[in-house]
Amino acid sequence: MAVMDKRLITLPNPHLRQTSKKVGVIDDKIRELVRHMEDITLDWEEGREHEVGVALAAIQMDMPLRIVVIRNNFDDKADKTFHALINPVITKYEGGLLEDFEGCLSVKDLYGKVPRYDKVRVKALDLSGKEVRFSAEGFLARVFQHEIDHTNGKVFIDHIKDAREAFYALDDAGELMQLDYEKDIADNKTLWEY
Ligand SMILES: [Zn+2]
Repeated sequence: MAVMDKRLITLPNPHLRQTSKKVGVIDDKIRELVRHMEDITLDWEEGREHEVGVALAAIQMDMPLRIVVIRNNFDDKADKTFHALINPVITKYEGGLLEDFEGCLSVKDLYGKVPRYDKVRVKALDLSGKEVRFSAEGFLARVFQHEIDHTNGKVFIDHIKDAREAFYALDDAGELMQLDYEKDIADNKTLWEY
């Protein structure tokens, strides 16, 4: 299937729990995939008043390659530029674990309070194949951990599977409302069947 025909995949698609492969050569096909990932992220955001498409991993488009795109500005939707990371790895975790909200383009209508390290160091290649290193904290550190998890077949809900108080949904006014764990989460096959 051509790259441009690829679409976002969501749970319960089992491919989201698959481990992605390292990118060998960064060629035109990889660059085309990166552009398409950015477009898909921006398309998702269209018409969603209360949400921002902050990042995407290639596996979310059913391409099991270690590629992540991250928005350059999380606070300004008018800035539609991204950073592409090829073969990203976390080289160091620092600070303590902090719980905060996250969502995922591949997990429909669900938010979770997920523990993540406050600071991380990340190593990757840029699109020209040059090694780049980042030191991130707070929300950006969270985004790195979430996206690099995707390349390892992990979805954010997998961290909080048994956390009864951790699951939320957005209401029409854009407020996060806690969900009923027994009713909405525990036996929800669309989340856990894979
Ligand atoms: Zn995600």
